[in-house]
Amino acid sequence: LSGASLFFAFFGFFLGRRTDVMASKNRRLHHEVLTDPLTGLGNHRFLHERFKIEFRKHRTSRQPISCLMMDLDHFKRINDLCGHPYGDFVLERFASVLKKCIRRGDLAARYGGEEFLAILPYCNKEEVRIVAERIRKETEKLVFSRRNKRIKLTVSLGAVTSYDSSGFNYRQMIALSDRALYDAKGKGRNRLIQTTLRIANKYFRGTNSS
Ligand code: GH3
Ligand code: MG
Ligand code: MG
Repeated sequence: LSGASLFFAFFGFFLGRRTDVMASKNRRLHHEVLTDPLTGLGNHRFLHERFKIEFRKHRTSRQPISCLMMDLDHFKRINDLCGHPYGDFVLERFASVLKKCIRRGDLAARYGGEEFLAILPYCNKEEVRIVAERIRKETEKLVFSRRNKRIKLTVSLGAVTSYDSSGFNYRQMIALSDRALYDAKGKGRNRLIQTTLRIANKYFRGTNSS
């Protein structure tokens, strides 16, 4: 009898250990799948998973939520002038600025090459403006130099705030922030354009006709 219980005790011990190892391996894999290796920020997939959840919370709580899309200005020039590895270094530095400027509970991701997106739950239009302007100014302050030449980095930003989600989803919020960003580029770059998620939005009118 005691032999059998001893056997099961050991068996249980090893089985438990194996599951622990597998669980931690799974966690690491899950983290890797959702992280951008260069910047350590969330990746595109992370963003969609989390934004969906945050938008659902926004819908039930009816607390505002903001979304901020950013794109580095004339980034191709930096690559052309300094090489791709230096461009990567610039991306890392910008990611650090972004991390520093957002609050705990906000989410930041690398959306594409030199495009970044932040989700700011419980954040209204005035608050997202403050965060965006901080990111814009801190980016201007970064110092890069190559062969004794100073290189300036600026960022354009498009922000959308939703107060009442009715009839909308998070994807429409991303699309709208992309349009606001496009507007910021057109108006001369290194600036923020803000808008609100609502039916009367001029950007939505723009889509209907095209
Ligand atoms: P704009 O102000 O209109 O945004 O101009 P831009 O040059 O930033 O825009 P464009 O989309 O023409 O170029 C983006 C560049 O970003 C081109 C591409 O080589 C570079 N890029 C994208 N991903 C990476 C990356 O992972 N590393 C580096 N170094 N460069 C990247
Ligand atoms: Mg760019
Ligand atoms: Mg771009």
